[in-house]
Amino acid sequence: MSQPQLTVVIPVYNEEAGLQRLFDRLYPALDALGIAYEIIFVNDGSRDRSAAILAEQFRLRPDVTRVLLFAANFGQHMAIMAAFEHSRADMVITLDADLQNPPEEIGRLVAMLREGYDYVGTIRRQRQDSAFRRYASRLINRIREKTTRIHITDQGCMFRGYARNVVEMVNACHEVSTFVPALAYTFARRPVEIEVGHEERAAGESKYSFYSLIRLNFDLMTAFSVVPLQLVSLIGMLLSAVSVATYVIVILERLLTRGLSDGIYVVWDRDILNFFLTGVVLFSLGLIGEYVGRIYQQVRHRPRYVVEALLESGDRTLPSPDSTLSAPTTFRAVQPNRRNS
Ligand code: UDP
Ligand code: MG
Repeated sequence: MSQPQLTVVIPVYNEEAGLQRLFDRLYPALDALGIAYEIIFVNDGSRDRSAAILAEQFRLRPDVTRVLLFAANFGQHMAIMAAFEHSRADMVITLDADLQNPPEEIGRLVAMLREGYDYVGTIRRQRQDSAFRRYASRLINRIREKTTRIHITDQGCMFRGYARNVVEMVNACHEVSTFVPALAYTFARRPVEIEVGHEERAAGESKYSFYSLIRLNFDLMTAFSVVPLQLVSLIGMLLSAVSVATYVIVILERLLTRGLSDGIYVVWDRDILNFFLTGVVLFSLGLIGEYVGRIYQQVRHRPRYVVEALLESGDRTLPSPDSTLSAPTTFRAVQPNRRNS
């Protein structure tokens, strides 16, 4: 494989139903650009036939195809981080495997990168997702704009372009749970945003459940901002002040109406107050736990992902189409990533 000018990164998790359609549009679109490119597919521990389909595609187009096979499901953003570390081109573009963003638009991102922008963000024109996803996403985008210094109009769209300097900075980050577009943005010197098309999933269903979407947004909020933590302290202080004031008022009122004859007692809606405060305490604990959990994960220095194998062709030894995958020139096992230890 000669030195590519463009690396296209595609995370794949249980996408067997749509991969062929992706190949059918992706390769012609990239060939039409007329530049040397490589595609890095990362199989993120799929349970379906995705890995086998990717391996077959590697056999068909070993000149431009590389496949990273994760040993388990480490998440879309870890898959992208792994591909970044293996990428070789000056321009890197990430794209989902489900054809929600048309591969034919890759050329537009390349053009922006060539103009000297080092971060090409995208905004989905007429987003084709459920109403719930659209509204929730709008709300989260707004909160993130206010609490972090990251200014991305449409954070959910993963079809983005990055210049080598930004990719290198992302590679230097050893974060365990992160959100690549936001992380990359913090290193961009000349970011730009363009509008791109958005279609419904070509096949299969979204790989994000309601729960994993919540997890992802917690990652986004806590990885880039300590405002949630500060907010909890502020609410805590406010509540303490309010309860002290309430206490003073209640006691004064009793002293004035009944004098000291009843002694000191507290009955004022104690149960409701207790419920309320318990909720606040639990919420605060949970949020602090989010940070502590991350610190814990970080200090363990565990490998963030484990690559089982890397399918790529050697420089001179391109396999003939009928060679088997396990031939030594095309298949090499990779040690787990232990950079952090
Ligand atoms: N994906 C992944 N690992 C995961 C979840 C998703 O690699 O744990 C991939 C998935 O195969 C797809 C991309 O990430 O290529 C985006 O996922 P999806 O389309 O399900 O997300 P949505 O568009 O619903 O936000
Ligand atoms: Mg999608």
